[in-house]
Amino acid sequence: MIAITFALFVTTVHAQQKLSKRQIEKIKTEILNKVQDRHKNTQVMVDKIFSFAELGFQEYESSAYLTKILEEAGFTIEKGISGIPTAWMARWSFGEGPVIALGSDVDCIPKASQYPGVAYHKPMVEGAPGHGEGHNSGIPVVITAALALQEQMKNNDLGGTLIIWPGIAEELVASKAWYVRDGYFDDIDLCIFTHVSNNLSVSYGQARGTGLISVEYTFQGEAAHSAGAPWRGRSALDAAELMNVGWNYKREHLHPLKRSHSIFIDAGDQPNVVPSKASIWYYFRDITYDGIMKMYNDANNIAAGAALMTDTKVSSKVLGTAWPRHFNKVIAETMFENIQKVGLPTWSEADQQLAKAVQKEVNSNNQEGLSTKLSDLGRPLKNPVSGGSDDIGDISWAVPTVTLRFPSNIPGLQGHHWSNAITMATPIAHKGATAGAKVVATTVIDFLTKPQLIVQAKDYFKNVQSKEVQYQPMITEKDPPPKYLNEGIMKEFRSELEKFYYDETKYDSYLEQLNIQYPTLK
Ligand SMILES: [Zn+2]
Repeated sequence: MIAITFALFVTTVHAQQKLSKRQIEKIKTEILNKVQDRHKNTQVMVDKIFSFAELGFQEYESSAYLTKILEEAGFTIEKGISGIPTAWMARWSFGEGPVIALGSDVDCIPKASQYPGVAYHKPMVEGAPGHGEGHNSGIPVVITAALALQEQMKNNDLGGTLIIWPGIAEELVASKAWYVRDGYFDDIDLCIFTHVSNNLSVSYGQARGTGLISVEYTFQGEAAHSAGAPWRGRSALDAAELMNVGWNYKREHLHPLKRSHSIFIDAGDQPNVVPSKASIWYYFRDITYDGIMKMYNDANNIAAGAALMTDTKVSSKVLGTAWPRHFNKVIAETMFENIQKVGLPTWSEADQQLAKAVQKEVNSNNQEGLSTKLSDLGRPLKNPVSGGSDDIGDISWAVPTVTLRFPSNIPGLQGHHWSNAITMATPIAHKGATAGAKVVATTVIDFLTKPQLIVQAKDYFKNVQSKEVQYQPMITEKDPPPKYLNEGIMKEFRSELEKFYYDETKYDSYLEQLNIQYPTLK
């Protein structure tokens, strides 16, 4: 495959080296205007996905809506990839040239339902999921860029293939390692991933944050009448609780860069029946693959110990994985030049009022409103920093990759929270998404017109990034994606959420449909 890609590549080198620096700059200036012209479409996509409010693996409306847009634009869609019903990969080719993948996540957060544009907690549907991470904005960024790129590739005879793909169930880190395992990134030259943030930024080297393995432990005991014959019962719940006690003793001896957290997903049915089954679900995080696997191994031992103590049986399954992320220097540096050209959006007085009011509402230590100064290019950290994970990590070890962070949210919020949903269907999210799309589009133009950049990006990937660390998947061929997750929650709330789906044929914006004054302050 590598040989074929290279052969294709040589042809384009000849076809496209003829473009002068001035010609390339002209194509880039034009595409900035084309992205800006699509601002209305971007806004509709952002608002629409916000209104669907779908949790991981249940992104049915979002995926149907997005794939229809891409189909109409001439993309060929493969649906249900990696055995995940809501996953897909869209492909559009215009002659020979590099194969560039553009991706972002689409799922939302449990219990984060929130009216947009309102600077205090006001759920649209009490207890329902909502976009309290802002994943409704990323796919609109890459689709906007791709549609503008299609025009510019045709107008300027730029050969290449665009791939659009969704990070399904990112909050469960449960799709991207499966895509990699199943070969969906095998013929791709580079990947630009996008993620909502509060600035327009990119980094290279090992990213801030961790990788993780997500594991469910299930204990099997014996039921009995809790009062009539408790001596005949063996409690699976006791085992799950003891496992948690054991892990919490372990916690004292974990390096501070490690993180772990858990929930009980089955803790029995009612007190008078000794629980014959109980399940506990952990995320084990660290900054290296080896560190993650060590935690996983320790947890397996603690689970076995808990089973021994309670005379129960334990089994486990992997529900998700994310490799620690490593981003490509060449793509990041190329992108950073475009970031500086695009700059941050111009925020209105209303945007800033909303942002400051939300920062105050959640007692943020940043009460300065939206970002007005670009961040620097993120360079490799001298000292690693712990924190969240994203399964883009697995893709970053399959092909040269970066994550573009775009400014659709407010600095200083806690994340995975209703407050993070407030901006996500307002002019702040819309302007941030357009800025992100401009950066993606111009960066892709750079890689389509300067083939040596792809050679350099691959050289960094092969000779710097992969020099000391070798990717090995945390999932096996046999691990299925846990596509059943969140089924029950969505079943409970979908009919209520449907009443709030955004109808772009009737309303200019979602705020208008919801009859919200922008901004609504306390
Ligand atoms: Zn995210």
